[in-house]
Amino acid sequence: MTHVEPWVIRPAPNSGELLSSYLIRISRAHGRSPGAFYRQFFPNNTCWRMDLDRSASERFLEDLSRFVKIDDRVLEDLTLRSWMENLDTKTGKSAKANVAVTPWINSLGVHKQSTRKHTLSFCPSCLKEENFLRKEWRLSFVTVCATHRNTLIDGCPNCDAPFVYLGQGLAWPSCNQCGHSFLVQEGALDEFIFGNLCDFQHQLLRGLMDDKVVFFGHHLSAQEFFSGIYLVLRAVKLRLRILGNRPCLSLMLGSAYSGRKTPLILAERLRTF
Ligand SMILES: [Zn+2]
Ligand SMILES: [Zn+2]
Repeated sequence: MTHVEPWVIRPAPNSGELLSSYLIRISRAHGRSPGAFYRQFFPNNTCWRMDLDRSASERFLEDLSRFVKIDDRVLEDLTLRSWMENLDTKTGKSAKANVAVTPWINSLGVHKQSTRKHTLSFCPSCLKEENFLRKEWRLSFVTVCATHRNTLIDGCPNCDAPFVYLGQGLAWPSCNQCGHSFLVQEGALDEFIFGNLCDFQHQLLRGLMDDKVVFFGHHLSAQEFFSGIYLVLRAVKLRLRILGNRPCLSLMLGSAYSGRKTPLILAERLRTF
């Protein structure tokens, strides 16, 4: 791409926003669906058939930076790339953005510009107030919103269909199966459980972002820490499998939504390890 005319409408990315969320907001600002809009400007790019938040190429970000007139390093910060380096267990700092699976990041499972997995958790109140998707919502250990003191949801509270956002049109969605609004916050978490979860989640996020964790007096890099607890949880998963997937951990996950079945959520989450 040699010369491009910048788009006339160029919303600014929000702090902590996912790249895919930013792209969706741009297309909406132009009154277009994401698929049609980006096919026009990136005809050779399969951007909606891949997990852009994990795998956006440098070339794509450079081209995008010309359209939005924003430094491509700012755009790269909207991806999960820097976190992937800290979360990868096998290759550590040499982890490449195109690895198939990264521990602690929910797999998108993109299929025909959509996803059939419970990939992205979100806080309905945050989404309603701020109108963008946060990077941290792709992390499997992020399960609560400290601002609204609620659990995140990763699917329809009514029928359990996943939150499908890549193929959505001009508004944040309601469920594409039953029409239930995703923006209505339902239920609340027990304060004791919430406090523990919130503190634990905050420590994990802080360690990931700062690339340093103090664990029982030991100073660890984020990669060392997350690799360690990843291995521990793999052992737990193996143990659960041997026991026949008995939902012994479901007690810690609470049950904010009566429509969701906690053991099923647990089993699905554990499959990502
Ligand atoms: Zn919130
Ligand atoms: Zn539904």
